[in-house]
Amino acid sequence: MSGRIFRFAPSPNGFLHLGHALSALHNQHHAREASGALLLRIDDIDQGRTRDAFETAIFEDMDWLGIDFADDIRRQSEHLADYDQALQILKDEELVYPAFMSRKDIRDHIAEQEAQGTVWPRDPDGAPLYPGQDKQLSKIERNRRIADGASFNWRLDMDQALARIAGVVTWQEEGAGPEGETGNLVARPDQWGDVVLARRDAPAGYHLSVVIDDVVQEVSDVVRGRDLFHATALHRVLQELLGLPVPRYRHHRLVLGEDGRKLSKSRKDTAIRELRAGGLTPDDIARLVGLHSDFRP
Ligand code: GLU
Repeated sequence: MSGRIFRFAPSPNGFLHLGHALSALHNQHHAREASGALLLRIDDIDQGRTRDAFETAIFEDMDWLGIDFADDIRRQSEHLADYDQALQILKDEELVYPAFMSRKDIRDHIAEQEAQGTVWPRDPDGAPLYPGQDKQLSKIERNRRIADGASFNWRLDMDQALARIAGVVTWQEEGAGPEGETGNLVARPDQWGDVVLARRDAPAGYHLSVVIDDVVQEVSDVVRGRDLFHATALHRVLQELLGLPVPRYRHHRLVLGEDGRKLSKSRKDTAIRELRAGGLTPDDIARLVGLHSDFRP
């Protein structure tokens, strides 16, 4: 064993599709090549969308595909205290703030600005950045609103975060980004603005939990789809702020549908279990996702 640790981290909010098969197979390939371990993590932080049947299906699909995971499986919902502790550090350092604007407030604010000719910035996923006026609220006003039961999210104060880090943040990309970015890359977290790190009633969202999980599981190599390439900049910022070790990253190509878009869990025809029920073998799946052309000997 090389001591290198890889992980596959699906969310049990739908049946896994060919894109997940490709990701699991890539992880298995790289873990084997490095004589490392491959862990399974159930990313069920979003309890509202999690279903037991989908988790059961993850185990069945992965078993059928022939992916070998190490025995200890981490389920995010069983480790909420870990995320809360990290959030508390960021709160104590005043690097997060309660953001009170509702979706409608945000939409209205941006529409007003755009009507005046402002080009409102968008994040790498195309969503408009958070306006962030409530960063200016006094502590007294924040506490009053919270005591009054106002709903809010904890958002990262990106300006403060970048000022704290004071220097470029980089990561080692062993795969490639959408524009072929590879090697030692400079992260552009500023493109994301003040992202949500936790909801009022949930201890963490994806970005915070993934960073904590990868540390707790001692992951050395994050192998995942290119749709998460840009999010890596955010993950790097959180690692810097929390003083955490940094894994290597390898983003792989996505499996696209006939319409050229990435697959979604709501499509039945590309679900692993549907294809299995239709008589395909695990080898057929590997061929369908083009695994052999990725790793030609
Ligand atoms: N749970 C995430 C997903 O299903 C993947 C997280 C990751 O690989 O960082 O898209």
